[in-house]
Amino acid sequence: MKIYVSELRKTKGRTEQFSGNIPSLSIELQGIEVNFRDIDVSGNATNTGNGIYIKGKVKAMADCTCSLCLAPFSLEVQFLFEETYYRQGEQGVQSSGGIVRTYQGDEIDLSDVIREGLILTLPMKPLCRPDCKGLCPVCGCDLNYQHCSCLPQALDPRLAVLKDFFKETNKN
Ligand SMILES: [Zn+2]
Ligand SMILES: [Zn+2]
Repeated sequence: MKIYVSELRKTKGRTEQFSGNIPSLSIELQGIEVNFRDIDVSGNATNTGNGIYIKGKVKAMADCTCSLCLAPFSLEVQFLFEETYYRQGEQGVQSSGGIVRTYQGDEIDLSDVIREGLILTLPMKPLCRPDCKGLCPVCGCDLNYQHCSCLPQALDPRLAVLKDFFKETNKN
């Protein structure tokens, strides 16, 4: 998404609003493709004299895969960002140790900021619901919808010892 700053660039102190929508964006994350939809971007751009300061908000839907039961689900994500863009080749480009954002001509491209922000909004282990029971480690059935009888065999070995102990006790 691009913001056109040809007018804004002329007047120091001037602020302009912007908004836009990206229908969909696919981002590859550690080999997994994540699709974002309905990406709404809005905010203000201010001419600070030596750069364009942008404060914005991004809202989107992410198509995720549950890390426990592998079911696909959608997640609403949003984030705020603040960046100052400096015109390439102009004086006043300040490096504060971080990334210096630059733009060429009269266009500021927000794609990088949107992409980086969207990646950060994603949870490390997305869950389709907070209490997802996941898949049975033995037969692979979805424990949210099905019951199986393999769970006792999949018990922690320390608990299995206890189970034998109770068996012994019951005999007497
Ligand atoms: Zn799940
Ligand atoms: Zn099972």
